[in-house]
Amino acid sequence: MVSELKFGVRAPSTAPNQPTPNTRGLPRPSSLEGVTEQRMNVESFNLDHRLVAAPYLRLADRKQLPQGDVIVKYDVRFAQPNVAHLEMPVIHSLEHLFAEKSRDHSDRVIDFSPMGCQTGFYLILQGEHTPEQVAELVEATLTDILGASEVPAANEVQCGWGANHTLEGAQRAARNFLAERDGWLTVFADGRAEASA
Ligand code: ZN
Repeated sequence: MVSELKFGVRAPSTAPNQPTPNTRGLPRPSSLEGVTEQRMNVESFNLDHRLVAAPYLRLADRKQLPQGDVIVKYDVRFAQPNVAHLEMPVIHSLEHLFAEKSRDHSDRVIDFSPMGCQTGFYLILQGEHTPEQVAELVEATLTDILGASEVPAANEVQCGWGANHTLEGAQRAARNFLAERDGWLTVFADGRAEASA
């Protein structure tokens, strides 16, 4: 039987279209003007990455499934977009460590996956989570990572590139992220926690 499931398509909302406070001295080529005005399918393609202030935690998506269950997706941003990034072995080891250790603190972790731009991760959780609850989970997990003596599953049996890891690099990134704990819920450089509608 063909599934009757219909996927809800979100009505386009107004793009955040304020003038860009270019606090970091990044160039604003005229070719980028208006690039965020067209609504796109991917949530992060509608985020003006010039306006955020990493590190931060940001609710990127919330989906209600047909049976009523809720899934939330958080943007866990380690590095300032287009200014800095994490090296791939650092990302890889953070992925392994966070994926394993976060589940010591929560049984509602669905996934923790790196962004292709190498500036952060998406943390997907089952059920409603406030930003502060997510911050507590991230803080507990990163604190565990600082105490780790090895990267879990960093071998040819359990991983697709078992040699591509750095415990020290992951711990350095975790330490830097934890040092900014007070600012995690301030997503934007102008102090906002959320994009204005
Ligand atoms: Zn791996």
